Amino acid sequence: MKRTTRDDYRVVVTPRRLGDFGWMSMSDRMASSDPDRDMRERCEEIAAAVKRHVDNVGSVEVQFTEVHTCSHCDLTWEVLTAVEALMASHRQDEHSVEGEPVCCDKAIDEFRVERGLPPVRWEVTS
Ligand SMILES: [Zn+2]
Repeated sequence: MKRTTRDDYRVVVTPRRLGDFGWMSMSDRMASSDPDRDMRERCEEIAAAVKRHVDNVGSVEVQFTEVHTCSHCDLTWEVLTAVEALMASHRQDEHSVEGEPVCCDKAIDEFRVERGLPPVRWEVTS
């Protein structure tokens, strides 16, 4: 029969959001000019405090996930796959290649300049 035992115990510490002051709350972007840097610093401080003050700790490390967004439009960073770059329904024109962003005109223009590819001829809509 199946027997369940517990293993790999960990204590998960979640830092308080930058914009959460307890008595009031705002967005992290309003509370900090560089949320990524400030959150990392906060986590390093918590990790250092745990190492200093808590007994029986095997190791402490700061972990995070990476979120990729477009610096122009803030949407999730997505690019054409090799197959999509060949599909008329997905590509901008015959110069679209694998890795070309899909979110906005500025990201595509930037990508094309970096790669030395001809720019997309954006239709002007009035
Ligand atoms: Zn974009």
